[in-house]
Amino acid sequence: MSLLEVGAVDAQYGLLKAVRGVSLSVDEGETRALVGANGAGKTTLLRVIAGAHRPAAGTVFFDGVDITRIPAHKRVALGIALVPEGRRLFPGLTVEENLSIAGGHRPGGGWTVERVLAIFPMLQQRRTQRAATLSGGEQQATAIGRALMCNPRLILLDEVSLGLAPKAVAAVYESLRELIGGGTTVVLVEQDLGRALSVSTRVTCMLHGEVVLEGASSALSREQITAAYFGVRASSGVGADT
Ligand code: ATP
Repeated sequence: MSLLEVGAVDAQYGLLKAVRGVSLSVDEGETRALVGANGAGKTTLLRVIAGAHRPAAGTVFFDGVDITRIPAHKRVALGIALVPEGRRLFPGLTVEENLSIAGGHRPGGGWTVERVLAIFPMLQQRRTQRAATLSGGEQQATAIGRALMCNPRLILLDEVSLGLAPKAVAAVYESLRELIGGGTTVVLVEQDLGRALSVSTRVTCMLHGEVVLEGASSALSREQITAAYFGVRASSGVGADT
């Protein structure tokens, strides 16, 4: 069984169906890119997995356990960490304080402030600086570091490069590669298709709340993904596979 098994999930905001019948399996050690246009339902799906949004139907299994009705804070303790869009740091706290506050949720994974600073060198000079005064890239690195401090088995990253300067995106991805190389399981929402493909093992494309394409990142062309992204179904379809 995969580490994460999402089964036929529907998620709604009132009458609006944001996610429709989505199934997704993510293996341990895999990096899954989740792509799709604005409003495709990617953030909502991540929130369902993290327990921040209750699905109207369907199931979420983590490591073989049905967690569909388990609240978000207990999922953190099980090893699921979400880095939300917009980062949501404590602006008045320093980098170190933002990291430390997340420690202890799930002991045993080996993540410490020192280890986070080693993987994100850009934060080393910023250790005692308040989060409000950081650049966008530094804030994103702190938000990812904070999630790592929960010692996750699965890390959910929403819109990693959103609002970042190209240099900052490159620096954050360099650190992410190190993380991925270390075996952490990642589901990553990314608007930059090139980045998403280069870092992931598999890619899932959503459109209007549904999965319209899924396959190995190395086996899918940019054209196939772009067609699925914009709903040109003739050259795409679920199961463009490994
Ligand atoms: P983006 O890249 O713009 O973040 P997305 O693929 O992550 O898009 P979602 O944010 O999951 O998509 O949104 C899916 C749908 O749900 C959209 O139609 C959006 O307008 C709607 N939606 C999202 N959040 C809410 C909310 N809090 N209340 C009502 N509707 C919402």
